[in-house]
Amino acid sequence: MRSLQAKIAFAYLALALLIIGLSAVALIELGRISDKVREGGKVAELFDATLEMRRFEKNHFLYGQAGDLADHARYVARAQDLLKRDAAAIDALAGAGAAGRLAAELGLYAEAMAAHAGDPANEELAAAVRARGYRIVTVGENLALAERKSVDAALQAHQRNFLILLAAVAAILVATGFWLARRVTTPLKAMESHMEAVANGQLTRLSPDSRDREFVSLTGAFNHVLDELERRQHTLVRAEKLASLGTMLSGVAHELNNPLSNISSSAQILKEDSDGDPAFRAQLVADIDAETLRARRIVRSLLDYSGDRAFQAAPIPFAELANDTLRFLKNRRPPGVETRLDVAPGLVVHGDRPRLQQVLLNLVGNAYDALAAPAAGGHGELLISARPVVVGEKGDDFPVQSGRCRTGSAAVDIVVADTGPGIPPQALERIFDPFFTTKEIGHGSGLGLFIAFEIVEEHEGCLIAANRPEGGALFRIRLPAAPKEPPQ
Ligand code: ADP
Repeated sequence: MRSLQAKIAFAYLALALLIIGLSAVALIELGRISDKVREGGKVAELFDATLEMRRFEKNHFLYGQAGDLADHARYVARAQDLLKRDAAAIDALAGAGAAGRLAAELGLYAEAMAAHAGDPANEELAAAVRARGYRIVTVGENLALAERKSVDAALQAHQRNFLILLAAVAAILVATGFWLARRVTTPLKAMESHMEAVANGQLTRLSPDSRDREFVSLTGAFNHVLDELERRQHTLVRAEKLASLGTMLSGVAHELNNPLSNISSSAQILKEDSDGDPAFRAQLVADIDAETLRARRIVRSLLDYSGDRAFQAAPIPFAELANDTLRFLKNRRPPGVETRLDVAPGLVVHGDRPRLQQVLLNLVGNAYDALAAPAAGGHGELLISARPVVVGEKGDDFPVQSGRCRTGSAAVDIVVADTGPGIPPQALERIFDPFFTTKEIGHGSGLGLFIAFEIVEEHEGCLIAANRPEGGALFRIRLPAAPKEPPQ
């Protein structure tokens, strides 16, 4: 049986057969008992006839009326008829030949009665009639007693058999239940815990814990959905990355202008002043070299960012990362907005540079958008700060101290804050959802914070959003200080 449906159908069939079997056995037993009761009725009829016979015998002795004698003879004849009719039942109850012996006794009794009728004063004959009558009634009584006992015994046997059968059926039902449970609920439970892991962000594929057709196809479908999800997430991340790459490109183009024009003017002077002071010329060449390096670094950071590489953690000087971000987004900064950098000197974070760059680009880009909105009027301040912390120690004011936010003992806390209008309270719990945006169509994809959240989680850190009491939005990132192994 390689399918759940077949197993359940089999269990139902077994159950139905058991119930039919049990009912059939109960019906057969009941039939047997009702036979016994019918036999009992025959014995009772015979016993009643003998009692009536004796009653008329007594009346005859007391009153000597002819009618009583005739009635007596009638009941003797009836008892004889009953004995003849039910001989088999009586023999079965009291042993072979019992009916014949009783019939003979009845014959002798009738003869004694006839003799007494011919000689009513003969006390000896009367005593013989009474003795025979008494014996016949006693036999009838014993027959009735034996019949009752046999019905009782049959009822008890039926009860016992029925209980044994019920116990057997219950045992079979429990065993079938266990069997079904093992076949159905065990793989379902395994699937449930797998799915919980998936819901918690581990996109690990399911392996079927049962070879039943339904489980195999469900697992296959689920894995297919996971593949598709991963593929789409990848596409979304790429789309968002391309969008911020556009922003970066215009920043980089501006940024490149400076070293290029410095190189150009140094080269111009060199050309015009071909036989000037050698020390001055050497300085100009050194300047050209330094500016070329600067331009190369700018271009490399763009290349690094645009590449689609696997996660690669390395130590990153945070001030450099933050300055790059501000430079790349120079064009998006509203003119009335001041930027402030408050980074502990020499602070290094461990992570994947392009990915962390993307997080800062998203956060700072959003802050500039918020500050450019009419509510802020293009004025205000953007703050990026970072400091090392020891989790749980004095001065650790991170609002969440559980899950990924509890990154181990040493961590780096990064803050990106602005003095803009802040995040609308009703949006606060949804801003990390994919496609959630309050921006106009064409201005926001709603993916920036979702991707930033994913990247921070990939670093085993955590990202939370809040509004500052004095106004404006505040994003806090906690990253573990220790280098993270690349995911396998
Ligand atoms: P998008 O920028 O494309 O809208 P994000 O995921 O980056 O997508 O941001 C989602 C939403 O979060 C924004 O539309 C905005 O409403 C809100 N948000 C993000 N940063 C800020 C901020 N600094 N100030 C106010 N609101 C913000």
